[in-house]
Amino acid sequence: MIIAKARAVDGPDKAFRSAEITRRDLDSHDVLIEIKYAGICHSDIHTAHGEWGDVNYPLVPGHEIAGIVTDVGTEVTKYKIGDRVGVGCMVDSCGQCKNCRKGEEQYCLKGNVPTYAGVDKYGEPTQGGYSTHIVVTEDFVLRIPESIELDAAAPLLCAGITTYSPLNHWEAGPGKKVAVVGMGGLGHMAVKIAHAMDAEVTVLSRTLNKKDDGLQFGANDYYSTRDPETFDKLSGTFDLIINTVSAKIDLDAYLSLLNLGGSLVNVGAPAEPLEVNVFSLIGHRRSFAGSMIGGIRETQEMLNFCAEHSITPKIEVISADEIDEAYERVIASDVKYRFVIDVSTM
Ligand code: NAP
Ligand code: ZN
Repeated sequence: MIIAKARAVDGPDKAFRSAEITRRDLDSHDVLIEIKYAGICHSDIHTAHGEWGDVNYPLVPGHEIAGIVTDVGTEVTKYKIGDRVGVGCMVDSCGQCKNCRKGEEQYCLKGNVPTYAGVDKYGEPTQGGYSTHIVVTEDFVLRIPESIELDAAAPLLCAGITTYSPLNHWEAGPGKKVAVVGMGGLGHMAVKIAHAMDAEVTVLSRTLNKKDDGLQFGANDYYSTRDPETFDKLSGTFDLIINTVSAKIDLDAYLSLLNLGGSLVNVGAPAEPLEVNVFSLIGHRRSFAGSMIGGIRETQEMLNFCAEHSITPKIEVISADEIDEAYERVIASDVKYRFVIDVSTM
């Protein structure tokens, strides 16, 4: 057994505390990673607060992991000691079903094994990246390009791939008008990536407070959704809308912004159901869809794309003692634009 230091939470309204957790001894295809940085995703907060359903506490969240390989199993071929690597939202899948064979392990028909709050193939609960070490089978480990610093790489493992994948799938590119709703961790990555794909990008944020940043990230336009004129002015404009909002929004209002055949893709995952009036869809042959992270192959493609286009998230590095405060600030949308824990402070 490998002992790791961690930060754990014991219940939906509990503060984080120091903890020691065990990681399994290396199986032949396992990689031991010394974690250097872990991003704070809003999904960590939904989970830690029990918003998505029952959780087995104590819980160590964290699925935006960047670190260094410090040991490898006897049959590992992809990585060696010293490699700069990342781990995202899943650490295993069946590998056999049709979705896994397509490289879409996140949609594994038997359910992927989430990095935390899941159960691994040994029947043990999984614990995430707010910790000093993790053991992961090599097929679920990503290579971090040399040009990306480890602290900035961490958020790419969730916020990066979760926005890259639908932009890729719905073909954001030259001549496409893309809107991003909500400019937080995912939203600001969506702006940067869609811009690098040469789409025309508009941010739809509640206020204009972050407009300068949005334009700097590559947005062509930036509108406040609290201004009712925004919805009149932009009616029927977009080919693709990526909704990153962590709370319930008025979908019909946003669907009205799609042009003929446009798609609104939800990546935001609020606990409460969203309502759609079908007339918002059938009138202009619009689609309402969802997307969850991305497969391992596509995640590596995204990391390489970000390196090629010099794309990194804008981050604020915090110490392990600041996690509770960071959660409060994310909930208050007071984050520019991702908190990343410096694991050496654990
Ligand atoms: P975040 O940093 O908190 O960003 C969410 C943004 O949504 C905020 O910055 C804010 O943007 C907007 N917002 C928040 N509350 C709102 C409200 N009540 N009404 C309207 N807008 C609101 O969160 P994140 O880490 O980017 O995650 C966003 C969501 O995606 C979460 O629900 C998370 O669980 C989910 N997620 C899904 C996947 C997936 O695979 N599908 C992966 C990761 C995360 P403005 O200030 O610009 O208005
Ligand atoms: Zn996430």
